[in-house]
Amino acid sequence: MLPKQKYTYGKQSISWGDIWEVVKTLRSDYLTQGPTIKKFEDAICAYTGAKHAVALSNGTAALHLATLALDLKPSDVGITTPITFIASANCMLYAGAQVTFADVEPTTANIDAAQIKKHITPNTKVLIPVHFTGQSCDMEAIAALAKQHNLFVIEDAAHAIGSDYKGTKVGSCAYSDMTIFSFHPVKTITTGEGGAITTNSEELYKKLMTLRTIGVTKDPSILLKQDGPWYYEMHTLGFNYRLTDMQAALGISQLKKLDGFVAKRRELVDEYKKLLKDDLRFGYLEEQSYSKAAFHLFPLLVHHDKISMNKKQVFEALKSCGLLLQVHYIPVHLQPFYSKLGFKEGDYPVAEKYYQQAISLPLYPSLTKGDVRYIVGVIKDTVR
Ligand SMILES: *Cc1c(COP(=O)(O)O)cnc(C)c1O
Repeated sequence: MLPKQKYTYGKQSISWGDIWEVVKTLRSDYLTQGPTIKKFEDAICAYTGAKHAVALSNGTAALHLATLALDLKPSDVGITTPITFIASANCMLYAGAQVTFADVEPTTANIDAAQIKKHITPNTKVLIPVHFTGQSCDMEAIAALAKQHNLFVIEDAAHAIGSDYKGTKVGSCAYSDMTIFSFHPVKTITTGEGGAITTNSEELYKKLMTLRTIGVTKDPSILLKQDGPWYYEMHTLGFNYRLTDMQAALGISQLKKLDGFVAKRRELVDEYKKLLKDDLRFGYLEEQSYSKAAFHLFPLLVHHDKISMNKKQVFEALKSCGLLLQVHYIPVHLQPFYSKLGFKEGDYPVAEKYYQQAISLPLYPSLTKGDVRYIVGVIKDTVR
């Protein structure tokens, strides 16, 4: 039987208003390095409450520059979660340092502060909590550990623009040195490719701005001499990680709609939970009292001890019914590259168990409650 309708797990929402903003920059004087970048950064600051924002070409670049700005030594170690996109771990290696993992909480699949504590050694320098699915990690506990052991904190908020933690916006950096965002089309707001770092530190902000533009500066307070108005100097090895003005225009327009997107995502998650809660074959992650999440993902947890199908069979059966889903994530420590660094199966049992169960269901603003009812109906009829 042909599927009635096809659904992917995520999809961008682009309006004619968004398109018009992009078209206007195409007819302006600047396609890149123009005034729209600063306007987008100011809008990110206004939304999150952070003092500074640096717009960048993607979220991975944001993680790269965030770790580089910390001037790490080769012996320095960062701790992140295995349940994340690989870039959250890779960024420590980009900066010439090392990375390890701490296991997750079973109820949220977020990094567990008690597990972080077990992995802290004198070489630990950075904590990289990832706000998985958009739900903030327990930042008070993480910030307390960072303070006690003198560690930097970089929040990976690629899933969490628009999320709150204890009434503060994720990205305010109330509990961290820097927060990174991604604006890839599957994320809550998009610029095509794009990312940003927020920080309240003037010093980090200046470093990040220079690193974004190849390491070149015209700041008179830094220049060693003043040859003339054309003069610039390079003091650090930077990159071209700039966002374009067309992308920034799209970002400004999307940011205006963020609260509406979040409300819709939360409504759809409530509907999924209502429809799934009495079915023993399935479960889902729980939202904690400290969180108001801008849900980027809604992972269905399949209890394989209650059904006969294995994960591959479930995934393929749902695909043949038109549900083109994804799994977030294959635990990073199980990637061949990380096996070579000595990580192995069994190292992070809660994360590995989570991976066995999780399949991300469709979640995006143009989805309706009727779509959710149809999707859950298909799942209940198919999984056995
Ligand atoms: C998407 C994502 C990134 C990387 O963002 P890109 O813009 O795709 O480079 C980093 N961390 C997490 C958790 C992500 O989901």
